[in-house]
Amino acid sequence: MPQQKRFSIKRKLSIAILIPIAVAILICWLAGVFILNTRTVRQAQEKVRNDLNAAREVYLHEVGHIRDVVRFTASAPYTAAVLHGNREVLAGILAPLRQTEQLDLFMALDAQAESFTAPTTRPPPVTTSPVTRSSPVPQGGNHCRYLDRVRRGHGHGRKAAGRRGCHTHPPHPPCTAHHRGHGTGRNDAHCRSTGQGRRRRIIGALCGGVLLNKNNSLVDKIKSIVYEGVKADGKDVGSATIFLGDLRIATNVMTSGGARAIGTRLSEEVYNRVILHKEKWIDRAFVVNDWYFTAYEPILSVDGVPIGSLYVGMLEKPYTAIKFRLGLLFSGVLLVGAVIGIAVAGWLAARLAKPVKELENAARRVAAGERDVQCLISSRDELGDLAEEFNQMNRALMQREDDIRELNRGLEDKVRERTTELEEKNRLLEKTREQLVRKEKLAAIGELAAGVAHEINNPMAIIRGNTELLQMSIPQNADNRDEVDTIYQQVGRIERIVGNLLRFARQEKKQLGQVDINGLLEEILAQIGHQAPLAGIRIMKEYEAGLPVMEGDSGQIRQVLTNLVLNAIQAMAAGGMLTVRTRMETTKEMAEITVADTGSGIEAENLQQIFNPFFTTKANGTGLGLSVSYGIINDHGGTIEVESETGKGSTFKVSLPVKSRF
Ligand code: ADP
Repeated sequence: MPQQKRFSIKRKLSIAILIPIAVAILICWLAGVFILNTRTVRQAQEKVRNDLNAAREVYLHEVGHIRDVVRFTASAPYTAAVLHGNREVLAGILAPLRQTEQLDLFMALDAQAESFTAPTTRPPPVTTSPVTRSSPVPQGGNHCRYLDRVRRGHGHGRKAAGRRGCHTHPPHPPCTAHHRGHGTGRNDAHCRSTGQGRRRRIIGALCGGVLLNKNNSLVDKIKSIVYEGVKADGKDVGSATIFLGDLRIATNVMTSGGARAIGTRLSEEVYNRVILHKEKWIDRAFVVNDWYFTAYEPILSVDGVPIGSLYVGMLEKPYTAIKFRLGLLFSGVLLVGAVIGIAVAGWLAARLAKPVKELENAARRVAAGERDVQCLISSRDELGDLAEEFNQMNRALMQREDDIRELNRGLEDKVRERTTELEEKNRLLEKTREQLVRKEKLAAIGELAAGVAHEINNPMAIIRGNTELLQMSIPQNADNRDEVDTIYQQVGRIERIVGNLLRFARQEKKQLGQVDINGLLEEILAQIGHQAPLAGIRIMKEYEAGLPVMEGDSGQIRQVLTNLVLNAIQAMAAGGMLTVRTRMETTKEMAEITVADTGSGIEAENLQQIFNPFFTTKANGTGLGLSVSYGIINDHGGTIEVESETGKGSTFKVSLPVKSRF
């Protein structure tokens, strides 16, 4: 199974915190860029709309100027007089005015619509040129309308509206009038009669105008007033244009060659909106060779018919640059925010992951066997609860371990106890086995000895009898008397040995009776001096006062204790201390008799053999004393044990049941 990649809780928390931050930043960035973009565009469009209003004001100011000149001239009394009389004089008056007021057209019309005018400074429009093709239309339209009104006011209802080149119509009766208008026909125009004599009547009309075809000074004026010559990358930011129909007739939009882009056309979309539907059009547009924020509004004739449009445009590039810079600034701010967010997320994740890490460490320490581990998390939340639960679990675990340890200790004690008991039992078993072996061995030897003793006894009785006869027949002082006495003594010795053999073979049945151990020992110690020398030997008696009288064969017990005391005295040839002690083993209901000496002690290798029959280290010993004693004690249901150290002495301990068990 492939191992899954491990992610730390800190990393997961960091990601969990960072994802919303990243999403928020992304949304902020998108929203910011969108708002920036739309705001900038809206601002630019608002600005260009205002620019268009300003441009219109400049334009209207020009128109107002023409109107004022015409009105002033028409209202002068000499104008009517001259119009009625000397036309050359009138032309002489109009010509300098036209020049000083920078009009392209300044003419007077009489009632017959005959015009006489000052010559224009600029050549009339060339019909082959697209600019001039349609240029006469508004002029004609306006003039004819005025003339029509002149005529109607004068009583001549001759229609002239809609005709081109009004200035060529026949003259009408003279009148005093001023004409507010200009060459484009954008403005409404009206005739105003001036009084002549007592009664005011219209005798003619004055017409002033400025040609818009290639009227760059007007568009440049608009540009300089609205945009104040602001440049970007060496290029004018703003531009203004006057369209006639869809044709650019005056502009400061430059072609790539550096010339004014006169003669270029309006897009169909703008034309439809502005010219056909008489609406403003404000949007970005590609003008000649660059993108602009543009605004168009229709230029209406006196009749309210759209005959062209006024345009202002602002280069898009500076706004794009501003947008880019603002976008960069905004992105930078967001980037700084993101960096701070990442730092805060890291810090928060580390702070949140810290208790988890502490818990993990604590759990690892517990798993490694460490106890009494406390997780110190003070936060009041699920992690704090978890830490408390962990601590409780740890305490419970420790308690459980203590219980188990205690149980183990109990079990170990029990095992040790049982082992000790088992060892004791084994020891007893081994002892019993040894006793059994010894018993069997002794039984076999006893049987043999009994057989031998029985066979020896009869001849020995004959020898004894005959020896006694010999002694009686031989006088005391006879030569052979000593030999006969020696034979008699040796016969006695043989009989003792045979007797011992017979006792060893348990041929003698024990005679049960009351045995006073302390009293018996006292008798033995009193008589012992007759059997062994006690020179240099001190005797210590430690009798237990309340030692009960026990059941047993008094003679046999006497034989055992006498043998033990004799052996002890014999082991202390150079003197020493003989200790005789009795005590009651109450729990086992046994009487314990100890006979200890400070004599030669028993060699370790001999210790196992001293109870074997015929084992002796003495020159005239029989090696039957301890083996017979062992048999007697065993026969009474007791035990006999020895502890000895060479050179320090030996201690024989006899345990006998107070109540006979056999
Ligand atoms: P015997 O006295 O005839 O040798 P026992 O059976 O009484 O026969 O003793 C056997 C042997 O045990 C002795 O020869 C002696 O070596 C040893 N023995 C018994 N009692 C003592 C003792 N108190 N101190 C040293 N050795 C002893």
